[in-house]
Amino acid sequence: MSNSVNQQKDRLETLTGSCLCGACQYSITAEVMHFFHCHCIQCRKTTSAAYAANILAVPTEINWTSGSDNMTRFDYPDRGFTQVFCKTCGSGMPFIDKKEQILFIPTGTLDCTPNIQPEANIFWEEKAQWLEHGRHAPKVTGFDIK
Ligand SMILES: [Zn+2]
Ligand SMILES: [Zn+2]
Repeated sequence: MSNSVNQQKDRLETLTGSCLCGACQYSITAEVMHFFHCHCIQCRKTTSAAYAANILAVPTEINWTSGSDNMTRFDYPDRGFTQVFCKTCGSGMPFIDKKEQILFIPTGTLDCTPNIQPEANIFWEEKAQWLEHGRHAPKVTGFDIK
């Protein structure tokens, strides 16, 4: 009994983040559930990246320290898929899904290091075909390419 309470406490994290231009800033204290890398086509499109890295948490109030009126919300008709982004720079921002069951926090916008680590690559069957090659490509500092 007390063990489960402690586990819940352990999963309570305060996560702070911001968009690229700095207009939108948030601080969220939530019970984190998962940290996924999602390879679905919708996530790849909206992040313009190989995959989306999101922390999923129990819905709670998002404390916008700035920019709460500087965001646009897009709800995709299928899969209950949503993107909330800064009107100025386009960075994806935290949001609660349409069914109000999950709080999504795009980890690329974090200004802190979360305690939770990525636990799964979801929608792996939809991954970009060049993903694995990229993971094994040489790691260099900045644009230090010979
Ligand atoms: Zn911005
Ligand atoms: Zn996805």
